Amino acid sequence: MPSTSDLELLLRGADLRVTRPRLAVLAAVHAHPHAETDALISAVRDDLGDVSHQAVYDVLRALTAAGLVRRIQPAGSLARYESRVGDNHHHVVCRSCGAIADVDCAVGDTPCLTAAEDHGFLIQEAEVVYWGVCSDCQNAAPPIREEARV
Ligand SMILES: [Zn+2]
Ligand SMILES: [Zn+2]
Repeated sequence: MPSTSDLELLLRGADLRVTRPRLAVLAAVHAHPHAETDALISAVRDDLGDVSHQAVYDVLRALTAAGLVRRIQPAGSLARYESRVGDNHHHVVCRSCGAIADVDCAVGDTPCLTAAEDHGFLIQEAEVVYWGVCSDCQNAAPPIREEARV
């Protein structure tokens, strides 16, 4: 976990004024990778007391625009935020419980940005999501279905 002065440096390095809500939201994203906004709001409230949803949304938008936070949104999921930025890493998502984990690029550094055919686009990002079942869900007893008993 980065210290408060590390977080202040990150904000200043991105030309953002250091404010308590920005520090609290950035700290919450570092502490809770891939958290949804609601989880971040409650973490920020533990830290700062009463902060409006809108204030947290606004700060998340500013941090994302400044490149300090990455926003991901797998299909069927709410937006989630993480502090691991700039490496175009991928995610594996559990179809059963929605758990998310980081996956490095398969080969070297951002190879997926080299599209086989760019259609004239200036390509900036490749989004790869691996879908599967997490180990907790694999170990959980499968649900008993009535039709399976026949
Ligand atoms: Zn799962
Ligand atoms: Zn991630």
